[in-house]
Amino acid sequence: MLRAFAVKGIALAAGASLVWALPAAWHGWAIAAVVAAAAGFIAYAIVHPRSQFFVPVVDHIAGGDRIVALTFDDGPDPEVTPRVLDLLGAHGARATFFVLGERAARYPDVIRRIEREGHTVGTHTQRHLVRFHFARPRYIQREIEDAIAVISGILAHRPTLFRPPQGLRTPNFASGWRRTHGLTCVTWSVRGLDSRPTTAAAIVARVAPRLAPGAIVTLHDGTGLGGAHDRAPTLAALVTILGECKTRGLRCVALGERGAEAR
Ligand SMILES: [Zn+2]
Repeated sequence: MLRAFAVKGIALAAGASLVWALPAAWHGWAIAAVVAAAAGFIAYAIVHPRSQFFVPVVDHIAGGDRIVALTFDDGPDPEVTPRVLDLLGAHGARATFFVLGERAARYPDVIRRIEREGHTVGTHTQRHLVRFHFARPRYIQREIEDAIAVISGILAHRPTLFRPPQGLRTPNFASGWRRTHGLTCVTWSVRGLDSRPTTAAAIVARVAPRLAPGAIVTLHDGTGLGGAHDRAPTLAALVTILGECKTRGLRCVALGERGAEAR
């Protein structure tokens, strides 16, 4: 937070100096430009999956090996997640599942199957409510830690990977995050945008061109949080994406497995 304050202070001072160096008639426009630039930067810092400004994130797998990490958010789902696991298994692929604590508590057998088949279980808050983005740090900390407690109870070990809802890292999120320990915040380099109603062709069109060594791809096995209740497009797209990976010689790995450490 000190770093954030220092950068904001320097930016403010630089902006003010710039404004006062200009003719008085331009002051209004100059102030508006400085405010717009500051707002743009803050938005970038909160939203962009590569921004390290508020919280350090992992947005790709380092190392240059021909591997990609498929990730699935918002599950587990008693219907969809097993079908995703069947497809992954049929292709010899591994993946990472960022699950909700509340849903995991309802379907612990699905969580156990995810791990038994060599995939990684990460967390994605306890309930994934909209208020998470506006809440106080204590609420954010509790949402993160409650989900970890649920998964720890099911798997007898503590998950270490976390994905923030919608990937957003607000200053309040950063404050709550700093109260937790031993977690890695994972965003992505490729996004299927399948939490909203879409088609398999559209998902493939977004993902396939960006499948490259080190990519972290975000898809969804859980339903209902982004407006889409039908996961048929995701399942159909997954078949094509797995085929594309094979064609390009890219191995699908679970984050955290050897050679795919999230750091
Ligand atoms: Zn989500």
